[in-house]
Amino acid sequence: MLITRPKPIEEILSMLDMFPETSICVVGCGICARKIQTGGEAQVSMMTARLQQRGLDVLDGKIVKHACSTESWDSMVEENPALDDAGILLVMSCGAGVSLLGRISGKPVLPGLDTTSLGSALKDEVFENFCVMCGDCNVGLYAGLCPKSGCPKSQVNGPCGGSIDRDCEVEGRECIWVKIYDKLESRGMLELLDDIRPPVNHDRRL
Ligand code: SF4
Ligand code: SF4
Repeated sequence: MLITRPKPIEEILSMLDMFPETSICVVGCGICARKIQTGGEAQVSMMTARLQQRGLDVLDGKIVKHACSTESWDSMVEENPALDDAGILLVMSCGAGVSLLGRISGKPVLPGLDTTSLGSALKDEVFENFCVMCGDCNVGLYAGLCPKSGCPKSQVNGPCGGSIDRDCEVEGRECIWVKIYDKLESRGMLELLDDIRPPVNHDRRL
């Protein structure tokens, strides 16, 4: 799941200033952004109302089933011919959705959210930084807890030595290496920590 957070309204308004007197349609995403309540029905309605209150020309908001799917966009356009009247789309999805709609919608697009990480959601709790898409997945060596994304220093041979009382010295949460150690120990697999791992191979992302 792509983790997103709302952009400040001032930033959105300043981007919209580039398109004066243009009708706007706010588009949410029915998958990730909806699940973590950054770009679902409620957030799209709220954004639409906020922009209308500022006197902007805003059409009814829409939710595309998957913002990162061409088919979803095509069916939404088919079902909502009024979308043709929109001069610009303010997209409340991850960057992949914004980029796709920028390519296929034929309209200028602006992002309503910032995409921060790959994570997950459980009931009302959102978990960030499960994966930074390194292109070289070996999370099985770390008891399924990725240190490349979970450690601010991406230490693959951690911990860094700055962990204090189990907490990370950089962030006010438990050091990922404490969790990795505990889990490997409980599984009797601590010998996995004996090997020195090579640094992240960024070529694998190309
Ligand atoms: S090892 Fe790489 S691909 Fe696997 S979870 Fe971590 S960042 Fe993601
Ligand atoms: S304390 Fe742990 S999580 Fe924090 S930077 Fe060091 S190794 Fe990474």
